[in-house]
Formats: sequence, structure tokens, C-alpha cells
Amino acid sequence: MSFRILTNICGCLIGAFALCVSALAQTAPSAPAGAQQELRVVTRVLPPMVTSDDGKLSGFSIELWNEIARRLNVRFNYQVAPDVRAQLDQVKKGEADVGIAAISITAAREADFDFSQPILNSGLQIIVNSQGRQGDGNPLRDLLALLFSGASVAWLGIAAALILVPAHIVWFLERRHDGGIVPTEKYFPGIFYALYWAAGTLVTQAEAAPKQWMARVVAILWMFTGLVFVALYTAQLTATLTVQQISGGINGPADLSGKTVATTRGSTAAAAARSYNAQVVEVAQITEAYEALASRNVDAVVFDSPVLLYYAANEGKGRVSLVGAPFRKEDYGVVFPQGSHLRGQVNVELLKMREEGAYQRIYDKWFASK
Ligand code: GLU
Repeated sequence: MSFRILTNICGCLIGAFALCVSALAQTAPSAPAGAQQELRVVTRVLPPMVTSDDGKLSGFSIELWNEIARRLNVRFNYQVAPDVRAQLDQVKKGEADVGIAAISITAAREADFDFSQPILNSGLQIIVNSQGRQGDGNPLRDLLALLFSGASVAWLGIAAALILVPAHIVWFLERRHDGGIVPTEKYFPGIFYALYWAAGTLVTQAEAAPKQWMARVVAILWMFTGLVFVALYTAQLTATLTVQQISGGINGPADLSGKTVATTRGSTAAAAARSYNAQVVEVAQITEAYEALASRNVDAVVFDSPVLLYYAANEGKGRVSLVGAPFRKEDYGVVFPQGSHLRGQVNVELLKMREEGAYQRIYDKWFASK
């Protein structure tokens, strides 16, 4: 009897031990993954996020990942994808365990992948050729567009409102003066003579001078107002003209409508440019988009601002101009297949790197202005 109890107890103990072993085995994947096997990290060359010097990879994203992997004590190898779509495909199909470069975190991608914490604040921006104008080159259309631009219409509105004031004063003071600028005492058509005089005096030399002495004082003041008005209007027109010459009329994303825009295949920039009704030319490498811009096959390039800033400050210096600030904010993240155990570990290391200054050191190396 006691022997049977003993064997039962032993049986229970062995069972419990087996359960513990199998539970431990199941939790094993949360230990630094890839400690035994090499992680496949898919990236894509896109300076300054990823640079390639004769196949030797460097750049912000590469240095960031190298440091994360060092801290996690995982071995890995890089595979280089031709474009962001191919890069994401490799992660989705299980051909890669991690993706890193300049991958924007979007709602649509979040449905198919898991993303790390943001690794860099980014956004979309526009570049155009610095020299010469782009666009369809129709000078009459450009001139009309300039004359009827929002700013010009605003100036005309201000002028029309301003004219009413001296016109009424002068009409009132001059209406009874023979040989003055208002030949009749009646408001109509007398005010039209006064309005004609006020408008003429604002933009050119006065044709006629009032006779009444108070009206003459008003006329002198009005002439000075005219001088200031013409100076300001000329300045505004010159500024608009200069901007147009530099940017070919592209001053922001709203001006992309109907314009030809180059960007990379499957990128967030391609989707954004299309949403602004641009004609999008998709290329595999952003360098091809720069070439299309230089040869004037496209009016602008829309792409990630860190990449465009880097290009504008280096190879594109003096050749391209950035148009305005980033018009859409985006964050870059490390991408994983859904349910990857790695994500949590990478997030912890990313946070530690920020707290300990390692992140800042890598950031400063690639982005701090020199
Ligand atoms: N941030 C862009 C994206 O994720 C990069 C595009 C590219 O690498 O070509 O869509």
C-alpha cells in the first residue's frame, strides 16, 4: 500500500518536472532571439539612412541596428533590397526577420507588420531645380498667373479701398470750385471724377491738382501714400517672380497638381504626390529621380525630408532647392513580421540607447549640422 503511494508520488513528481521542462522550452524564444542562428536583416541603400561604400554598409539606420544587435548579442547578416516594396515583401514572406532603412510607419503597413518605436522623425518634402524655371514655359500664362495671383488681388483690393477715402474728401472740398478736379456739385458723377483722380495719383503722377487749399494738402499726402504703395507692390511682385523662377511655380504640395513628380516605387511619397493629383513617375532608386529632375524630365521630386536635405546639402548643392518645410510628418521604424518576439527586445534597447546617449551620438554623427 505505502509502496503504491510512493510510486504515485514519484509519478506526479516526474509529470510535474516534464511539464516544467516543456513550459520552459515554450518560453525559450523570448530569450535573445538568434543567439544561435543569424538574423536576416533586410535594408536598402538610401543616404544618409543607409550608405554603401563598395558594398560596405553604413549610415544612421545601419549604425543604429549594429548597436541594437550588439546590445542584444545577436548575430545577423544584411540583405539589400532594391526598393521599399521589395524590402517589405521580404519581411512579409518570412525571407527576412527584420527590416531597417527609412521605412515610414503607416496605418496600412501596421496592418501587415509590427513596427518598433519610431527611430527617427521624418516627413515628406519637395525639391525643384535651382536654376531656371520648369513648368510648361508658356510666358503669357505665367504672366497672367502672376498678375492674378492671390497676393496681387489682395493688393488691388487694398488699393480700391484706400482710393475711396481721398476721393470722398477731395470731392467734398472741390465740388464747388470752378476749374477744379470735380466739375459738378452732384455726388454722381462728381465722385467718379474724384475716384479717377485718386486712382491716377496713387500709381502715377497726378494729372491735375485740386484748387481748394485743404484738398491740396490731402493731394500731397495721397501722393506720398502712392509712393509707398508702388514701392511695396513692386517689392511683392519681384519676390513672387523670384520664387516662381526658382521653383517653377511650385511653392508647396498644393502646386503639385498636374505637375510631373518623380519619386520611388511603392513609397509613401508616391502615394502623397498622387493624392495631390501630380503625375507620378516611379523609379527604383531615388538617384534616378534626381537625374530626371536635373534633365528636366520632371518638375519636382517628392521624397523623405532627411534624404532630400542630405542630397541638397551634398551632391545636389547649388543644383536643387527645397520647397518649404516638410508637408507631411512621418516616423521611421524598424519593421518585423507580425508577432515577432524581437520587437519588444529591440524597443527596450532603443529606449536604453536614448536614455544613455548612444542614440544621440549616432544621430549627431549623421544629422548634426557641421
Ligand atoms: N520612407 C519611405 C517609405 O517608407 C521610403 C521609400 C524608399 O525607401 O524608397 O515609403
